Amino acid sequence: MSDGPRLYNTLSKRVEPLTPGPDGVIGIYVCGPTVYGPIHVGNARPYIVFSVLKRYLTRRGHAVRLVSNLTDINDKIYTAARAEGVASTALAERYGREYIADTDRLELGRPDAEPLVTEHLPEIIGLIERLIDRDLAYEAGGDVYFRVDRFPPYGRLSGRRIDEMVASDPGEHKQHPLDFALWKHRKPDEDAWWDSPWGQGRPGWHIECSAMAEATLGHNFCVHGGGLDLIFPHHENEIAQSEGASGQPMAQIWAHNEMIELGGKMSKSDGNIVLLRDALDRWGRDVILVFTLRTHYRSKLPLSDAGLQDAANQVETLRNAARALRRAAAAPGDTLNEELAEAVVVARTAFVTALDDDFNTPRAFAAVFELVRAINRALEVEARPNGGQLAAVTAELAQLLDMLGLAGLMNEDVVPDDLMEMARARDAARAARDFGEADRLRDLIEGAGFVVRDTPDGPEVTPA
Ligand code: AMP
Ligand code: ZN
Repeated sequence: MSDGPRLYNTLSKRVEPLTPGPDGVIGIYVCGPTVYGPIHVGNARPYIVFSVLKRYLTRRGHAVRLVSNLTDINDKIYTAARAEGVASTALAERYGREYIADTDRLELGRPDAEPLVTEHLPEIIGLIERLIDRDLAYEAGGDVYFRVDRFPPYGRLSGRRIDEMVASDPGEHKQHPLDFALWKHRKPDEDAWWDSPWGQGRPGWHIECSAMAEATLGHNFCVHGGGLDLIFPHHENEIAQSEGASGQPMAQIWAHNEMIELGGKMSKSDGNIVLLRDALDRWGRDVILVFTLRTHYRSKLPLSDAGLQDAANQVETLRNAARALRRAAAAPGDTLNEELAEAVVVARTAFVTALDDDFNTPRAFAAVFELVRAINRALEVEARPNGGQLAAVTAELAQLLDMLGLAGLMNEDVVPDDLMEMARARDAARAARDFGEADRLRDLIEGAGFVVRDTPDGPEVTPA
């Protein structure tokens, strides 16, 4: 077995052990979405990866506190609100609610805290004041900027040198082109603002995470996560703000997931996206989870129907194994199958070793499928495993799947909600004479081990 869970640290470029804080808790902060539209499958990747990481660590006996913010003040929110003709606070509230509803459908539980920027203005303003007191920030024309050249470690996370960096954020009153805004004065076309010692305005983007991470997890917490696109400037700036103000490390390990891609970059502002809700309607949560987790979180993941169909086939293989075990348990033999007993031990060790080693979910899946093959072999031979062994193997498979958020695949004589939704979508497709789509949905339902029948009261779904 391994020595305990480890993760790759973007800062040190090494795989390092996760060390709980003095309170014994593994604190994890993940940058969540800007809520100006429905979230896409790419945004769901950090949500899934860090929720399942928490789940795994908890099952391994660790206390974990997962925090993931919602950015509910931002230029993109003002712009989207103007386009929709609604107040920006109302727009952010609406898409915040939709984000919760969409991610709830993944059935991975909620993070322990989901702070909103609009609820943390006092902490944000307090942090900016501390930075000004330390001469790490200055007020200019109603804005406040971070003074990058007063923070020598700037650039360590992204591996950039200050003299090579190009400013991304224009600002009229900056003293140095790389300085970035902590507070922005109120503009005439912005309909939400707050009072501050520097006049009316709103916080910059980066300062919110520094303030909310400190409010919820303190200093030097275990893991700071998010997508790779956030390393520079967002996370570089978070480090500068938090460490500049406190003199302590912000987080021990900086963990970044690679991007989900759709041809090229999948990003809301480019409009090149597949919404999470549409993917869930089409494929169901089990397939989305398997699709996301069967690739390592630090590898690029192209989104394609072929990839999703492969994941659907794997879901079917797992459901079939669970079903075969249930059938066998109804008529057990009297053999203890040595090979199967051995396979259970091997699978558990390989599974835990894989997830401890930089959360290697593809290797963990490989361990599960190795066990499934051993199960299928054991159920084919004449000398059937006895009831005790079948129960033990079933419990083991259920435990491994549960650590990946997939325990539901074990007990599905109850029809999962997503399959009922697919059956209704199939009905609608037939009514619209879209028979290709109707057939595709029927195949997915059958692939999951169910049959769909049309009745005068609507579709009926039953186990095959
Ligand atoms: P955003 O709303 O763009 O700030 O994104 C919210 C979270 O999703 C951040 O952690 C991003 O790094 C992450 N993210 C955004 N787009 C993708 C993508 N295509 N693939 C993976 N993660 C992404
Ligand atoms: Zn952040």
